[in-house]
Amino acid sequence: MAYYITDDCISCGACESECPVSCISAGDTKYVINPEECIECGACADVCPVDAPKPE
Ligand code: SF4
Ligand code: SF4
Repeated sequence: MAYYITDDCISCGACESECPVSCISAGDTKYVINPEECIECGACADVCPVDAPKPE
């Protein structure tokens, strides 16, 4: 289980620095979460302006 980022992502970058385990990075068309490292804290979802990070 991990959070993932939907296509709603507008690549604002706000979530990247909020992740306590630094598992969010910029992808080709949106930001992406490394599911191997995500601890499901929800911090990314809390700061996202478009509610793109979702729990799987
Ligand atoms: Fe990082 Fe937490 Fe979001 Fe997982 S849920 S990507 S650990 S901020
Ligand atoms: Fe994408 Fe939301 Fe992260 Fe911004 S905060 S990069 S819109 S997932």
